[in-house]
Formats: sequence, structure tokens, C-alpha cells
Amino acid sequence: MATKAKAKTASKTAATKKAASKKASTAKSGSTAPRATANSPFRNYTPYEPKKKETYMNEAQLAHFREMLMNWRRELMEEVDRTVHHMQDEAANFPDPADRATQEEEFSIELRTRDRERKLIKKIDQTIDRLDQEDYGYCDTCGIEIGLRRLEARPTATQCVDCKSLDEIKDYLDIRQRGGQWFVRLDDLDPPRQDPLADSQIIAALNVHGLIGNRDGSTVVDYQSDHQHRYETALQRVQDQLFYCNCSRRSLSGEPIYPGTCRGRKALQADCAVRLHVQDIEVSFIDELQGAFSYQMASDQGDFIVKRRDGLWAYNFAAAVDDGQDATHVLRGEDLLEVTAQQIYVMQLLDLAPPQYAHLPVLSFADGTKLSKQTHAPSLNNHQAAANLRSALSYLGQNPPVEPAWAVSQWLQWGLSNWRLDRVPKQLSTYVENA
Ligand SMILES: [Zn+2]
Ligand SMILES: [Zn+2]
Repeated sequence: MATKAKAKTASKTAATKKAASKKASTAKSGSTAPRATANSPFRNYTPYEPKKKETYMNEAQLAHFREMLMNWRRELMEEVDRTVHHMQDEAANFPDPADRATQEEEFSIELRTRDRERKLIKKIDQTIDRLDQEDYGYCDTCGIEIGLRRLEARPTATQCVDCKSLDEIKDYLDIRQRGGQWFVRLDDLDPPRQDPLADSQIIAALNVHGLIGNRDGSTVVDYQSDHQHRYETALQRVQDQLFYCNCSRRSLSGEPIYPGTCRGRKALQADCAVRLHVQDIEVSFIDELQGAFSYQMASDQGDFIVKRRDGLWAYNFAAAVDDGQDATHVLRGEDLLEVTAQQIYVMQLLDLAPPQYAHLPVLSFADGTKLSKQTHAPSLNNHQAAANLRSALSYLGQNPPVEPAWAVSQWLQWGLSNWRLDRVPKQLSTYVENA
């Protein structure tokens, strides 16, 4: 059966190469059999169809899940055996240190995979114990039924989907509230459009509001303009997927997606933008605030620019390279939500792990336009920093107390101990000056 063979290849690739596994997991199954991907532990099973009013977790259902767990366990055991044999067969004594290093690297990947498989087998055994005690299929946290479909996708699940996502949000806040290190990065890659005073004003404003960066105990502001070498290296790594585009803005107006006109220009050319030839894969992510998003990259986004015609780096490319290397969590305005998929696409090409995103709503005037420098939003009054912090917390749904005498540091402290991402509204109330 074709689906089965495909899934085998996918799971093997997943063990050795991260980028390949991501592509493999988006492969579509051609038949009506349950979709088997690198992420799914099962090669094959028949979904359980309960009769009307059938009791949840009756004998038949328990038997169904026992069989799934046993099959899964057996496949993992076979996988472990294969790894051991492979390493015994391949353990040749290479005279060349470079070959030896390559082999050691391969072995260490295989050992890590085996370790993961061992842990999974242990988890399966614990789950089978629960089945024996007929304590299977209910949420550990709230006690409701986890449900047949979720258990078939994840037979070792011990929480319902709501409790699970709630836990993930709590993890997120834990990171922010405990060990999280905050740093400020100035995206200053566009000197022609930049107000030379703006950077110093931003830094001054962050300073009086107590929000300047801090990494390893020292204050930092990270400037993208210092990262030229990093972006250049990243560009080299995706060289084979680039092409040079000299389409004018006018010729592309009215085209929602770049039509691919210049894909044939593979040689470096002057006065051209550098574009990425985007493959038709699916990119999905879950935003902590805005929910789940999924894009078919070629039809939804198309080939995008990574380096502009004037030689400046495109924001999406630079942000992807930086966030993929520096950040575990990215909290930013919702105006950047729509370009997130492109940034994740770049990270996947570069084998970088995308951060967890949360896109916060941004302030608008009464007519719906967003507050920004272009729309002549009033700048922050640095003389009332404490009041500004309180009103920001209030806009963000955090319900701060009325404490007219509090200083900046007290508001930040209050924010740190009381911050609740789940209270942030999807849309902020309209901005009112001096509110
Ligand atoms: Zn629950
Ligand atoms: Zn073009």
C-alpha cells in the first residue's frame, strides 16, 4: 500500500534531519486510509466507530486502544533493534579523522533517537497500566472524557484538549515571569526611510519606562544593522532557491501574488531584487493569542523578496534569521501576523526552530486607523511614564489597580506578577488621548 511505504520513509527522514521531516509531515496521503505522517505514530489503524449511545470506554473501546498501543510499542521496539544493529554493522574504524567525526555525529543522532524511543515506550507502558485499571480516557486535570478522536491521534494523552492548551499558555507565562530574558532589538535596516532622531527617542522612551533590554544582567540594545554578516551567511545557505527580479512596482500592481516572471534569472544581476522561489508547502503555527493559522505557501504567499533592489535586507528575512537564532518567544503587534508564515518558512529553510508567537492587538483611533508615526499618533509623554504604564496595562485587559503614587518600577513589578495573557482582548478599545 502506497501510504504505508511513504510513511516509513518519512519516519526515517525525521530521525536524521529536521528540515526534511517538516516537509515530509506535510506530504498528502493519496488514499482514504488515515493520514500517516512523520508526526503520527501509526502506520495503519481503523478509526473506532461507536454505536449510538455506546458507553464511553466500554470493553470494545478499551480493546481498540490496547491494540493501538501494543502495535505502536512493537514498532518502536523494532526501530530500536534496527538502530542497534545498524551501529554495530557500521562501526568501522575510519583512518581519516574527518570521516570518524562524521560517523560519530551520525551515531550521536541515532543514540538520541533511541533515547526518545525508549522514553516513549515507557510512556506507552504506563498508559497500558492505566488501561488495565480502567482509568483510561479521562482528563487528569478536569476529569472529562478526552474523546475517541483525540485519543486515536494521541493514545497516550492524559489531558483533554482544553486543559492541554491552558497548560501551554501557563508554560509561556512561566517563561516570561521567571527566567525569561528580555532584550530590545531595533529593526534599523531601512536608513533612507528612517528619522535619524527616532532611534534615540525610542531608546530614551524605553529607558524612562523601565523597558530597556537586559541580557545576562547587562543592558543591551541589539541593532539589526550590526547583523549584516549573519544575513549574508543565511542568504548563501538558500542560494539555490533564489532568483533575481527586475519587475517594476507598476508591472506587479494588481497581482496579489508574485506571478513568477523572473524565476529563470538565476545569475546575480545588478539592479534586481533577490526573491525566494517559494515551494508549495504548508506552514502552520499557533499564535498564543490569535489562534491557529495555516498557509499554503505558493498560493497564499508566493515568491517573496529577501533582499531589496536598493541592496537593503527585507524585513521578513532579517527578522526570521534573528528570531530563529535569538528568541524562544516573540511578542509583537498584530500588524506583523500576516508575514509570520514567511518568516517561519525562512527559518525552516535554515533549520532554525521558530519561536512561540503572540501577536498583541494594537491601538487604533476612533475611525479604525492604527496609531503609528505615519498616522501622526501623539508620541509618549516621557514625563508621565508611570501613568503610561498603567494605561497600557489597562488597555491590555490586565485590570490594574488605581495607585496614583506608584513609580515605574512598582508598575512593572505589578505587571510581572499579575500578567495574564488570556485577559488580553482580541481587539483593544479605541484610543482616547489623556484617557
Ligand atoms: Zn481537561
Ligand atoms: Zn520579477
